Amino acid sequence: MPIYEYVCPECKSKFEKMRPFSQSTEPADCPDCKTESKRVLSKFACFSKSESGVSAPVGGGGCAGCSSGSCATCGG
Ligand SMILES: [Zn+2]
Repeated sequence: MPIYEYVCPECKSKFEKMRPFSQSTEPADCPDCKTESKRVLSKFACFSKSESGVSAPVGGGGCAGCSSGSCATCGG
């Protein structure tokens, strides 16, 4: 079962949840304040295909999990 990452919009808490792929797009409740939290994209979604077919970082400024573009999530 895949693990998905979520960030709470209230307390900015980051947590992971293991759930079936069929529920991957559903929000998860923050373990701290029970606020409905959106999923942050994993490294698999960190890159998008450019027109030339070469994978490139989205926006060139990191992934959903960082702003440096060189964290483990970015694969850098
Ligand atoms: Zn929270």
